[in-house]
Amino acid sequence: MGAGAQAQAPIGDPHDGSQRAVSAGRHAVVSAPAQGPPQGQGGLRCATPSRLASGGGAASFLPPGDCDGALTNALPAYSPLNLDLVEIDVVFHVIEGAAGQGTVADARIHSQIDVLNEDFRALPGTLGAAGVDTRIRFRLAETDPQGNPTSGITRTNNNTWFNDTGSYWNTLAWDPQRYLNVYTNAASGALGYVPFYPATGPVGANADRVVLLWTAVGRNAPIGPPYDLGRTLTHEVGHYLGLYHTFDGGCGGAACNASGDLICDTAPVAAPHFGCALGAQSCGTPDPVENYMDFSDDPCVDRFSEHQARRMRCTLLSWRPLLARVVPPAPGSSYCVAQPNSIGVAARLTGTGSAAVVLDDLTLSASPLPTNVFGFFVVSRTQALIPNAGGSAGDLCLGAPIGRYSRQVQSSGTAGRIRFDVDLALVPMPTGFVAVQAGETWNFQLWYRDTVAGNPSSNYTDGYSVTFH
Ligand SMILES: [Zn+2]
Repeated sequence: MGAGAQAQAPIGDPHDGSQRAVSAGRHAVVSAPAQGPPQGQGGLRCATPSRLASGGGAASFLPPGDCDGALTNALPAYSPLNLDLVEIDVVFHVIEGAAGQGTVADARIHSQIDVLNEDFRALPGTLGAAGVDTRIRFRLAETDPQGNPTSGITRTNNNTWFNDTGSYWNTLAWDPQRYLNVYTNAASGALGYVPFYPATGPVGANADRVVLLWTAVGRNAPIGPPYDLGRTLTHEVGHYLGLYHTFDGGCGGAACNASGDLICDTAPVAAPHFGCALGAQSCGTPDPVENYMDFSDDPCVDRFSEHQARRMRCTLLSWRPLLARVVPPAPGSSYCVAQPNSIGVAARLTGTGSAAVVLDDLTLSASPLPTNVFGFFVVSRTQALIPNAGGSAGDLCLGAPIGRYSRQVQSSGTAGRIRFDVDLALVPMPTGFVAVQAGETWNFQLWYRDTVAGNPSSNYTDGYSVTFH
């Protein structure tokens, strides 16, 4: 675990009697906004402290200081277009209460990761398409701190911790320099919060975390509209990567990169907006109500700005250097669409390594699968779409002739994942083994057992196509 671990209540935690100048007022921690959410829909939008309440940054200033608590130098060098695609490993710590509250199904957590990626990558065709692609993506951790395979989800039953009291992070945290630790519980009456900003708090300490209200996790979250699209975590991870509320510091001063939210391409805004106040003007220009860092409703927000993206990339370089991994180019590409399985998720196939025949280092990975089910890969040089092939709940995406790696049956284990190192010299075909040649395209899928309501059935991942060279 990181150095400097300490029991630290979030600044602005509603249970914290000190109640400094917290800006995050859905329901008035300090100063009530003019408008609030409908009653019974989550209380505080966000209990993350305001920028100035969090210390201003000077004490923790570290080089290069282009994104500290007092300044943003949004240099082109921090533009995502000039930087590698990076990936952050996320662990979800689901904390449940004694009465069974706090349960969050795997499928909802997977959908939450999808929402993060849609929003941070501004993926075309999604609700986040209007934003800037930060070239930061997220995945559930595949390896735990001990090096063992994991689903990236831990589950703990503890009533004190469910109520967001007690220093649960000292027990549950995975090395916060390597993992983004997300805890789901009652979140102290807010939809979510981070306890401190990276430029001004103990980055890497056990307390370094994001806390998310358990009913606000993922798509179609049970909290219901208007907070049910998973945007609370998008907002909180924005804080975690160094962003302030767009209304932090109100209209700000003359230097847009050293006052207000420290961001020059988000228009100044005097106070948080709720609902969807499109067209509002509070500081003389249209307010950025569609920005993830306002308090607008989930369907209303759809973007980070370019300078926000640069500040987040600067934060990863300056304050969280170990957190994000550079993503190597994928050896192949996905095609076809998988059908949801018994855990409510469409399992996907990904490839790592390369498409070089001489290197012969292609590895395929299928997840998320139900735990402890068996499966094997199938392979073909042609693509097809055969719905519910052979009575399966899934679709076969390969054309004949199809080979089966039936000697390499594997279990998905407790992590719900099957990995396979492809041997390019020994691809099974109905007529015997063949060797992959440079210039050939091969298509892969995983078939797996998936029992639904006691009926043994099967399913497939999507397809993964690799053109070898
Ligand atoms: Zn916030």
